[in-house]
Amino acid sequence: MITIGVLALQGAFREHCRMVEHLGAQAVEIRKPEQLKAVAGLIIPGGESTGIGKMMTDWGLMDKIKERAGQGMAIYGTCAGMILLAQDIIDSEQPRLGLMDIVVQRNAFGRQQESFEADLYVPEFGEAPVRAVFIRAPFIEGVGPEVEVLASVKEKIVIARQGNLLATAFHPELTDDDRIHRYFLSMLKE
Ligand code: GLN
Repeated sequence: MITIGVLALQGAFREHCRMVEHLGAQAVEIRKPEQLKAVAGLIIPGGESTGIGKMMTDWGLMDKIKERAGQGMAIYGTCAGMILLAQDIIDSEQPRLGLMDIVVQRNAFGRQQESFEADLYVPEFGEAPVRAVFIRAPFIEGVGPEVEVLASVKEKIVIARQGNLLATAFHPELTDDDRIHRYFLSMLKE
């Protein structure tokens, strides 16, 4: 059985675990670096990216996650998790994994749009739109040549993939739509 770690420092980690288990994989809450040895993939939930990044550094997770990613561990970041994956965060020096060749803008949709939902057309997933929940969401402002753009909303990139790394600006774990998690699991089987 595939085992997926869910970083359990902050945010909706329980919802991610539920989604993973619903898809027939095993979910493990990750709080310590040594727990990463046993997982094929890691989900980094939303929350506050500065706080999560600081905890990751303080608890020795930052370097260990980078090391495991180098060995082929897949990572899926939602919202704050996406920010932590980015190489470039506009106007911020905050701690990050910096694994993905993307430029992100935090809180990008502005105060009027703190939270909103949108139907996303994701060609990879067929006709039925993905109902996406955005909460103080970032977007991807630019991508490097290795990055595949899977969806945009309001002309901003909100799903991207680079090899074994996947990022969404929104929160699929808060809906019943399991296609993003299913896609992440399929990346592990490639
Ligand atoms: N605004 C948060 C940040 O910049 C992300 C919000 C979220 O994860 N829902 O870190």
